[in-house]
Amino acid sequence: MLIVQKFGGSSVADAGRIRNVAGIIAESYLEGHEMVVVLSAQGDTTDDLLEKAAELNEAPSKRELDMLLATGEQQSIALMAMCLEAMGLPVVSLTGWQAGIRTNADYSAARINRINTERLHRELDKKRIVLVAGFQGVNKFDDYTTLGRGGSDTTAVALAAALHADKCQIFTDVEGVYTADPRKVPGAKKLDEITYDEMLELASMGAQVLMNRSVQLAKRYGVELEVLSSLVRAPGTKVKEVSRNMEEMKITGIAKDANVARVTVMQVADRPGSAFRVLNAVARAGINVDMIIQANGRDETNDMSFVVAEADAEAACKVLQDRQTAIGFRDISVDKDIAKVSVVGAGMMSSVGIASLVFEALNDEHVNIQMINTSEVKISCVIDAASADRAVAAIHRKFFEA
Ligand code: ADP
Ligand code: ASP
Ligand code: MG
Repeated sequence: MLIVQKFGGSSVADAGRIRNVAGIIAESYLEGHEMVVVLSAQGDTTDDLLEKAAELNEAPSKRELDMLLATGEQQSIALMAMCLEAMGLPVVSLTGWQAGIRTNADYSAARINRINTERLHRELDKKRIVLVAGFQGVNKFDDYTTLGRGGSDTTAVALAAALHADKCQIFTDVEGVYTADPRKVPGAKKLDEITYDEMLELASMGAQVLMNRSVQLAKRYGVELEVLSSLVRAPGTKVKEVSRNMEEMKITGIAKDANVARVTVMQVADRPGSAFRVLNAVARAGINVDMIIQANGRDETNDMSFVVAEADAEAACKVLQDRQTAIGFRDISVDKDIAKVSVVGAGMMSSVGIASLVFEALNDEHVNIQMINTSEVKISCVIDAASADRAVAAIHRKFFEA
């Protein structure tokens, strides 16, 4: 079998953890499997590197930032290779470039265009364990790019698809995918299986256990994933097309995204085309917008609010301010002290009363709902950030601990 394994930052945080992971890799290798292993940067390395950069330049170029961030993953693969060497196992470490991972030119949020698997196959043919630096690739200028936070998951799934791997195992610091973040909600339950679609919603709504783009890729190429713990030996969660749980469960899980901000554009002229001008300006800056609401205004104006990723909030304000006269509005405000709490489940479509149960849970906790968004498979509420964990716990109790 050809197995792709991926180990996240906390799984390789120090020498002890690296030895532990080397043991897991060695076990599969010694069973006779071909092994391609993707590693993340150790512990908080990526955040530390970002801080170092900020000490010298508040707005470094994305090219240089990617050059810096790519070093985190490179440390992990070299250290792991040394550990496996010391165990007497044949191993080689490869950067994203050496592993043939080609991306577009979008620094800090690059997408994988293709993987040239020649070198990987050559190393596998030599019976070596192949360690690949996650989160990175190279673009058409032969510059390093990174794939966005959590991107090593995407590296692993892309490699599994390109190599037609028999298995793709994502090892992390919890035992699988749970009905809510198990570190925040002690009563959270591990799911044996989850569908790609539900996992994609959970990941997109803030469950960082898998990067959403890795789930998209897995669905597109039919790569079955297993999310499991590098510390506890127990079956994890299978992410696949159809899940056994589908019929019985009305909702699959609850996610929180605290990295969001609300932008309010005040007193936008109440005439055709205003919403288009506001949202078009933001879209053209490459910023994703979510949960748009327009409050009934007075004096022939309306207030318009929408949610963006916290990191995009300043840029969204800037593009709007630059076009204030053309768009026609009075002022803009940004609120970063918000969080989006989402309830996800395909079973929602066929059951009534899910939304009212969510609102009841929030009401019980006296949490004020600022914005609501619903689709066939999810309900999202924007609330103040300080109440978010309490809100998730309350909703979880209603659905899973009753
Ligand atoms: P890694 O470094 O292995 O990539 P991450 O920190 O990116 O790990 O993701 C694992 C974390 O995701 C867990 O420690 C957990 O706190 C968090 N998490 C959030 N929501 C969920 C969920 N529904 N199920 C499991 N883990 C979750
Ligand atoms: N090291 C990167 C990050 O912290 C990539 C990853 O861990 O998947 O986001
Ligand atoms: Mg991760």
